[in-house]
Amino acid sequence: MKIADGIYLLDGAEFDSNMFCIDNELLVDCGSGFFIEETLAQMEEYGIDPKKIKMIVITHAHFDHCGGAKEWKKITGAKVFVHENDLNALETGNGVMAEEYDAEYEGVKADGILREGEEIKTKNYTFNVIHTPGHTPGGICLWDEKKRVLISDDILTPDGVGRSDHPGANEKELLNSLRKIKKLGDIQILLPGHGAPASRYNPYAKDAIKKILEKI
Ligand SMILES: [Zn+2]
Repeated sequence: MKIADGIYLLDGAEFDSNMFCIDNELLVDCGSGFFIEETLAQMEEYGIDPKKIKMIVITHAHFDHCGGAKEWKKITGAKVFVHENDLNALETGNGVMAEEYDAEYEGVKADGILREGEEIKTKNYTFNVIHTPGHTPGGICLWDEKKRVLISDDILTPDGVGRSDHPGANEKELLNSLRKIKKLGDIQILLPGHGAPASRYNPYAKDAIKKILEKI
């Protein structure tokens, strides 16, 4: 589904995370890896050439977001990036919670790490990395301040805030991260890890995130 200029949601299936392709250069999250054929078909439909994707960013190393990373790295030839605090989980599988999905996780080698404040540029967007621990220690959001686009990891979706009841999670940190997000001000487009993105085409979701942040 096209969300905005150059931004496509690849929505996977079942428990897959959302995947977002930005300007056919950047792929955010990789789903579980169980439904790659379906995602490739979606890409074709949207005119996305997987071989032109240069960078894969994992918002956090949980299986539903990174299970497909190894395969997507192969398909695209792109470099994989993750926050340093989730690097070990991504590479070893320790903490990705693959057991929750009855799955075997094959770790993937990261090509680089991301830190707070780093910039990721595509043709039409400039994202800053915001470290948002709480759901996992190395969770990150990506924020384009000018275009007011937030890629929100699992910590904020129109259906609520992220879980913080599993190993590696921390409720206090999650709350602090959400306060950081609240300080960003008006979010025009929210690209969450799960569920429907919020945009002018989906004002219901925009209202929902506004209400969630008001309570933080
Ligand atoms: Zn998660």
